[in-house]
Amino acid sequence: MALHNTSFDAANTSVRAFLTEIGQFYLGRTFNVSSGQGKKDWFKIRDEIFEGKCAYCGKGNMKLQIEHLIMFNKDGYGLHHPGNIVPVCHPCNKRSKAIDKKYKGWEEHLLFICKSNNEEGKFQERLTRIKNHITSDEFKYPSLSAEENNALRIITNNLYESIKNEFEQAVKLFEDLNKAYTKKL
Ligand SMILES: [Zn+2]
Repeated sequence: MALHNTSFDAANTSVRAFLTEIGQFYLGRTFNVSSGQGKKDWFKIRDEIFEGKCAYCGKGNMKLQIEHLIMFNKDGYGLHHPGNIVPVCHPCNKRSKAIDKKYKGWEEHLLFICKSNNEEGKFQERLTRIKNHITSDEFKYPSLSAEENNALRIITNNLYESIKNEFEQAVKLFEDLNKAYTKKL
């Protein structure tokens, strides 16, 4: 757990909790990768579907982390859902940015990694493997309508701003009270 938490961390955590709840809403059950069925799902995705290898660079024998293909934050509003996660190694888990400094979508990021490793010939195969996973009967990512995506975008951005504001107001309140009490002494 991070020891230095900021208003941005508080806002991001609340957005992730929201995207987890909505992911579970579409999945129809809980999806906790640390226990129960959620853990089994994650191990199946990591060890069987992706054969213990990084979904982006194909390297095995490394510690693999959970990557949300559609970014799990207010900018991507990707859901925490088995159809949105793949195993990746630590270096590949840092999403590359485009020229406009925006984070790349996962397909562009995959292409960037294949090119960086001089393995452009592997791109199509890796892309297909990921696409097969996110459209599989077992782990299919929900196909969201434009309206649903719009709602997710608006709500995650509102939630982020409100939590950040609440947090900053709490700090300000403390500072004001502190000043008021100090004057009385
Ligand atoms: Zn990798």
